[in-house]
Amino acid sequence: MNKSTMKKQNIFNYTLEELGGIVSPKFRAQQIYKWLYIEYKDDFESMSNLPKALREELTQTHSAHNLEIIKCEQSRDGSKKYLFRTHDGHTFESVLIQMREKQRDENGKILSSEKWTICLSSQIGCKVGCAFCFTAKGGFCRNLEAGEIVEQVVQIKRDNAIAPHKRVNIVYMGMGEPLDNFESVTKAIRILSERDGLSISARRQTISTSGIAPKIKKLGMLDLGVQLAISLHAVDDTLRSRLIPMNKAYNIAQVLDEVRAFPVDMRKRVMFEYLMIKDLNDSLKEAKKLLALLNGIRAKVNVILFNPHEGSEFLRPSEERARAFADFLTQRGLLCTIRESKGLDISAACGQLREKVRAQNVSYETKDKE
Ligand code: SAH
Ligand code: SF4
Repeated sequence: MNKSTMKKQNIFNYTLEELGGIVSPKFRAQQIYKWLYIEYKDDFESMSNLPKALREELTQTHSAHNLEIIKCEQSRDGSKKYLFRTHDGHTFESVLIQMREKQRDENGKILSSEKWTICLSSQIGCKVGCAFCFTAKGGFCRNLEAGEIVEQVVQIKRDNAIAPHKRVNIVYMGMGEPLDNFESVTKAIRILSERDGLSISARRQTISTSGIAPKIKKLGMLDLGVQLAISLHAVDDTLRSRLIPMNKAYNIAQVLDEVRAFPVDMRKRVMFEYLMIKDLNDSLKEAKKLLALLNGIRAKVNVILFNPHEGSEFLRPSEERARAFADFLTQRGLLCTIRESKGLDISAACGQLREKVRAQNVSYETKDKE
């Protein structure tokens, strides 16, 4: 096969060290990293400090533009939802969330500053099949490559002209179960944290998992410094198994055992996401049980109000119930916040934008039959 008919490699798949292994001399890798992650270039031709021969070679063999933005919806609160299409015709979503936070300068004067969080997808679809989740409805297509995970950040930063060194947090809370795509997600964490590149330290990256206990252990053993969020959603195994079928394989006690063994930065806490559903898990009885379950864990709880979608069997709880639940925990020393439903008006719960577009125009997606 000659070079022109070969599938081009995704340039975002390489750690700095790996890139240094395929270009010579090695320092060229740093130059390429700078063009990709600081200048947001998506072609090799404009990487002007590289020799012409190397630029040509890279153009023949690699691509720095592997994803297309096919839709972007802006919410009134400033968050933006992106729908990407892969080279093989699949679609998935990412969300950019903008928050204003107060900071003080050296004289104590209050400054307002922007804080960006990017919510990434790790898979196209998901195998876990949670009863409340829109992504689950579409089934599973394939894992995203590390480069496809990394490129979501690059394209969103470029599209919003976010300055290279502006603080960005990453959450793996888009489509897919990140620990079910372990190798690519952990590699993406490393690439995103490269000092010569995007420089988003692992401490500012949060993996949210539905609780694959052995993979939590494996992640802990890598000791990357990444933050952990557990989608708990229920305090008893009967309800949790109904919501998250995988609970039958790894129950609440097994998940919590792995959380206790997980290396957590002393300044940080493990986040427990609690998807609240009307009349199912929104009473103080559950709050009390949650308090007991998390006893001894450096935890914080994030209550998420169920976001209804077409055909869902569940209902959204009232804000008052959520507030009472959160107050109960906070008053007893367990940090608890209610997630602001950022972007609710732009179909925010994971998978919903994709489904909307898919319903409108089926040709966006060509399902992988492999
Ligand atoms: N698979 C991982 C990460 C992606 S899901 C996990 O389950 O943790 C990210 C978050 O979105 C999860 O906490 C999930 O519970 C939440 N979510 C899914 N469907 C939702 C819905 N309809 N309303 C509100 N939150 C939802
Ligand atoms: Fe998968 Fe998470 Fe949705 Fe469950 S909530 S189906 S684990 S993406």
